[in-house]
Parts: sequence; structure tokens; C-alpha cells
Amino acid sequence: MNNWKNNLRNIEPYVPGEQSKEKNIVKLNANENPYPPSPMAVKAIKEYCADSLRFYPPADATPLKQAIASFYGVNVENVFVGNGSDDVIALAFQSFFNGSEPILFPDITYSFYPVWCRLFNIDYETPAVDDNFRIVLDDYKKSNGGIVIPNPNAPTSICENIDFVDDLLSFNSDSVVIIDEAYVDFGGVSCVELVKKYENLLVTGTFSKSRSLAGLRIGFAIGSKALISVLEAVKNSYNSYTVDSLSVAAGVASINDREYFNSTVSKIINTRNYMTNQLRAMGFEVLDSSTNFVFASNKNIDIKDMFEYLKSKKVFIRYFDLPRINNYVRITVGTDREVQILLDEIKKYVGD
Ligand code: PMP
Repeated sequence: MNNWKNNLRNIEPYVPGEQSKEKNIVKLNANENPYPPSPMAVKAIKEYCADSLRFYPPADATPLKQAIASFYGVNVENVFVGNGSDDVIALAFQSFFNGSEPILFPDITYSFYPVWCRLFNIDYETPAVDDNFRIVLDDYKKSNGGIVIPNPNAPTSICENIDFVDDLLSFNSDSVVIIDEAYVDFGGVSCVELVKKYENLLVTGTFSKSRSLAGLRIGFAIGSKALISVLEAVKNSYNSYTVDSLSVAAGVASINDREYFNSTVSKIINTRNYMTNQLRAMGFEVLDSSTNFVFASNKNIDIKDMFEYLKSKKVFIRYFDLPRINNYVRITVGTDREVQILLDEIKKYVGD
């Protein structure tokens, strides 16, 4: 009886930052952009809605791929697009990690990677980052089934330079290396230029952070024709239209509006620097961030308790109850006003 239950998949899913329905909260827990998307993107959505929603999206989202290709100075056949970079990276895991050896990613990193490994039955190892949360390059100089590194890393916010990625690739010519650049626009250096040098490098990116379009779900990958064509084949084996028409229209408008992009990114960087200085002045250790969030700790306080206190004051940040980082919090950079509310509440908490 009920034998079908034995065949159900038992899997522990990734848990994203809480999307509270409460009103008037200060939401600094999901690395969302505090500013609206480019007005050009909103206009493009409205115009598209007026007449064209009854059609399927443009085949293979070609206009969006073209816009991304021209922004990054690559050819259109070097670009893949998907339903958020989560979709793109999940597809890349399925497409490229079919060898017998474990894949490698840091012990402290984006917590979706181990979930995909379990979902797709991919064996993995997690070399430890050092005491300063830096990735130890030598740990990736051994035989492996693939490598995934976010650069900047999350939730540490630390960025490595292009030479680091170049060195990583020069050693690893027998497996696919994915560099997840979800946060690179906030001060990191993109390694897209290395795609011309290394056929086994895939660089992924997203419109969710620096382009304020998390709600639409637009992610992309840039890589050699050899890698991109496999991603296309795997994607087209389960869903031809992962990127909807509104995402194509808004994505194109957004990437073409360079001025708006530059101005929101620089506002966020300025606020991040202010926030970092203020937290340090209150006794926090704050890692040097190249992202739209900071990773902070304070030896003199119970950080989980502070996280709960802030939540009770309607200020939402992110706490990970995980080894090595359970005395840290990740705080998204909000508007100046939101950050001031956060800092005032922390000041009250620390002063208690
Ligand atoms: N990579 C990293 C390191 C992230 O933090 C995130 C956001 N949670 C993603 C990829 C995925 O972002 P999205 O699916 O919104 O593009």
C-alpha cells in the first residue's frame, strides 16, 4: 500500500532570503537593488504588453542575446540566456559536470551549489577558504570534474582579480570552470575577456542585482561556442522558452541604458562605503566588499540575537546558521534612508 511514496524524491531545497508580506519593512536580506529598474525597461514592458503578449517569445531570445553580446564585446553565439542566473547555472551543472571526479567549490559560498549537486547527483568537494575568507588557489590545482567560483564570492563579498582566474584556468584545462559574476558590477573585475583564451570557461551574470530586475528573472552566460551550444541543447530538451517576452523587451532596454546603470551602481557603492565605515566605527569587522552587500561580524555581541532584534524592528538582514560564518550577518546595501534606519537600530542594540 502507498508504495508510490517510496519513489518520491526526498531533497532539501535551497532557502532564499525571506520575502516578507509585512508593510514598511526595511528589506536588506536578498541582495535586491533598492532602486527601480531603468525607466526605459519599464516603458518597453508597457509597450510590449499593449499588443504582443499573445505570441510566443522571440525564438531563442535573440534580441536579448544580441544586446548582451554587444555590451560585452562578444559574438551572439557566445551568449546564452535563461530564467535568472540560477536557471543558467543549474543548466550548466547538468550540461558540464558529467565526469566521474568531484567538482570543486569553496566551503563558504553560494549555498545553491550543493543543492544542485544533490539534485543532479554530482559528487563535490569544498576546499576551505582561508581565515581571511580568501579562496586558496592551490586547492584547485588538482584533478577535478569541474570548478565553480563566484567572483566576487558570496556571502563574503570578496573579489579576486583576473590573474587569479587566469591562473586557475591555466592549470585546469581538463574540466569546465564556471565563474559566477552575479555581483561583479559593484566593484569587481569581469573575466569575460578570458573566454577568448579558454574554451572551457563559462562566465555567468544576472540582471537581478545591478539592473534591478530580480522580479523578471534574467540571467546569462558567456562562453565558447562549444559550451554555449551544449547549454542550448540541454535547455531545448526541457523548455524552449525559459526567457519570456517581457524579459527580452525589458532586458534589451535595460542593457542599452548605460547612463542609468552607471548612476545606480555608483550610488550603491557610495552607500556601501558609508555603511562600512559606520559599522566599523561601532566595532564591527566588515570585510572589504566588491558587491551590493557587506559581510559583518562583531566579537562583542551575539550576532544572531542582533539579527532577531533587527527583525523585530522590521529591519530584515540575512543570517546563515552555518559552520564558520554563524557569527556573521550579510546586509544588502539599501538606499541612504534604509541604511540610516539600519545603523540607528544597530546603534541602539549595541548600546543596550
Ligand atoms: N549567484 C549568486 C552568487 C547569487 O547570490 C545569486 C542570487 N541569489 C545568484 C547567482 C542567482 O541570481 P538570479 O537567479 O536572480 O540571477
